[in-house]
Amino acid sequence: MTADTSFRLRVAVIGAGPSGLAQLRAFAAARKEGAEIPEIVCFERQSDLGGQWNYSWRHGTDEYGESVHSSMYRHLWSNGPKETLELADYTFDEHFGRPISSYPPREVLWDYISGRIERDGLREWIRFSTIVRRVDHDAATRTFTVVSEYLPTGEQTTEVFDRVVVATGHFSVPNVPYFEGIETFPGQVTHAHDFRGAEHMEGRTVLVVGGSSSAEDIALQAFKFGAARVLISHRRDPLGYGWPDRIEECAVAERFEGRTVHLADGTSVEVDEVVLCTGYRHSFPFLPAHLALHTKNKLWQDHLYKGVVFEHCTDLFYLGMQDQWFTFNMFDAMGWFVRDVILGRFELPPLEEMRADMAAWKAKFEAIDSVPAKGWFQAAHFKDVLAATDYPPFDVDAGVRTFLEWKQDKKEDILTYRDVCYTSHLTGTTATPHHTPWIDELDDSMENYLRLHGPVAAVEPAAGWAFGFLRSLLVLLLPVPAPPLERYP
Ligand code: FAD
Ligand code: NAP
Ligand code: MG
Repeated sequence: MTADTSFRLRVAVIGAGPSGLAQLRAFAAARKEGAEIPEIVCFERQSDLGGQWNYSWRHGTDEYGESVHSSMYRHLWSNGPKETLELADYTFDEHFGRPISSYPPREVLWDYISGRIERDGLREWIRFSTIVRRVDHDAATRTFTVVSEYLPTGEQTTEVFDRVVVATGHFSVPNVPYFEGIETFPGQVTHAHDFRGAEHMEGRTVLVVGGSSSAEDIALQAFKFGAARVLISHRRDPLGYGWPDRIEECAVAERFEGRTVHLADGTSVEVDEVVLCTGYRHSFPFLPAHLALHTKNKLWQDHLYKGVVFEHCTDLFYLGMQDQWFTFNMFDAMGWFVRDVILGRFELPPLEEMRADMAAWKAKFEAIDSVPAKGWFQAAHFKDVLAATDYPPFDVDAGVRTFLEWKQDKKEDILTYRDVCYTSHLTGTTATPHHTPWIDELDDSMENYLRLHGPVAAVEPAAGWAFGFLRSLLVLLLPVPAPPLERYP
């Protein structure tokens, strides 16, 4: 099943978020080394790159009547240490030239992911404000027909491609459950996707429904901006942090009666506002049903060999469709791998072998029995993809250990975990504290963030390079056996 590269392939990449950009950068890296690469067209429905990180004040519909893509909000900061998402092929030191804190705000991370794209002139590959409407596949000719629309004019274009990479994300289409009587609630009910900031919540009682990152962070936003009382209503295990006085966890909401919310434990609360942090749906409206993934937010996705190659059409690839502990660097590994399949550098095994491999991963996924085991599972998957590529070494196990420390930081103090500093697994650079504790920082702009950023202990480029080189050598020469998936001390 080697790719026929005797003619110049055309590759469509759908989406210029971190995953789509990883794909572009992967091809650019091969080109830099002198490889002949396919013609690449990246379709991006927004007017700029960055995906979720490209903040919009809009919610609901955009200026073209399309649904708004990004679910991010003002005052969104990284919720994990940046050292776990650092790109091995473009470090934070390379971009910022000095240490920064471990939890940068959104705009700073947007700037970072844009950096290597600008450096390599890859914007040229992206058609902005262009939405993919329809993708069809012709198995006989091994080609795809892609219909796209330039949103400002409505002009549609139909083109033929040999490979398609779907990098459209999966945190944009809200999952909105129904609660009995919710239509009688006189206040505002929004989904986290439409939440843009908590300033208006000052003095109000807010009910946040859900038990994951959005529930946790939107509750913290409400607290930070002065909500009188925040209730987090979950249906499984409580988040269980040592919440400050104005935040509490409660049983799942069962029924609404005006402003009164009846909870599953028989108690009730009066609230002013409801935010449904109930997750998202994978959605591929441009794909016919037989090419689309029909799934949920999980660490292992069926029908994707190595998590990226679509079982039923191996010229179709999906990037970043898994639930995410690792993000940017894992998307890079995936992008590098897809590139190598497309370039014929990695030969896909026969279908039966791919199926056996996917079944083995699924069994490991189903055996996950603890929170740390989730991290180790994703690490194992990440390393499996990484091993098949020439992506610069990234110490994935150290990344999981950082995630486990991060979970401990949150347990110790949910209000100060974003003030903790970590050390880069790539450069050895230790983060410097932000000039203002996260809970007191009401300005999330990059300008403010970079102003007075701690003592400017400039990164010594040579020392940083030498450390990175030695670390890479060690990672390559002394592969530390991975701890068992199930348990980690
Ligand atoms: P996306 O970032 O969603 O990008 C997909 C791109 O595809 C978008 O630009 C979109 O416009 C485009 N697109 C979609 N459909 C079409 C179409 N039909 N035609 C053309 N273009 C299309 N991760 C972290 O590492 N740290 C965090 O702190 C963090 N915070 C988050 C906070 C929120 C609220 C959310 C929702 C996610 C957060 N994430 C975070 C996870 C986030 O999903 C990843 O960081 C990353 O953005 C995923 O990249 P992606 O390219 O796969 O998808
Ligand atoms: P998510 O992780 O998929 O979680 C969805 C939550 O909704 C789960 O807790 C789920 O509960 C709950 N839920 C679904 N249906 C429900 C129902 N009918 N009743 C009650 N609860 C229901 O989605 P997310 O929290 O929106 O996070 C999405 C992504 O955004 C993640 O990658 C996250 O890291 C990121 N994020 C980051 C930040 C930041 O601060 N940087 C902020 C927000 C989000 P069950 O588990 O019981 O199914
Ligand atoms: Mg993308």
